[in-house]
Amino acid sequence: MDLGATVCLARVPRCGVCPLAADCPSRDRRYEPLRKQSRFEGSFRQRRAATLRLVAASARRVADLDSDAVAALERDGLVTVEAGLVSLPA
Ligand code: SF4
Repeated sequence: MDLGATVCLARVPRCGVCPLAADCPSRDRRYEPLRKQSRFEGSFRQRRAATLRLVAASARRVADLDSDAVAALERDGLVTVEAGLVSLPA
C-alpha cells in the first residue's frame, strides 16, 4: 500500500482509515499549499510559452520576439541565441 498516494493526501488525509493514525502527530490536520500559482493569463509564464512556441515552430530573429522572454528562456537553456537568431538548442 502506498500511503502517500492513497491515504495520506496533503489536502485531504484519510486519517480514519490510516494504519499509522494511532501514533501520527499530524492526525486530522490539513495542510493547504503555502503558495498558489498566479493566473497564467497575462503572466510572464504565458509570454515565455508563446515565445517558446514561436521558436519551436522555426528559428526567429531576436528583434521579432519578446526580449525579456527570450532572455529568460536562454537562461534556462530552453533556447539558444546566436547572431541575433533564436532557436531551440541542438
Ligand atoms: S494519520 Fe497521519 S499518516 Fe495517516 S493519513 Fe492522517 S496525517 Fe497521514
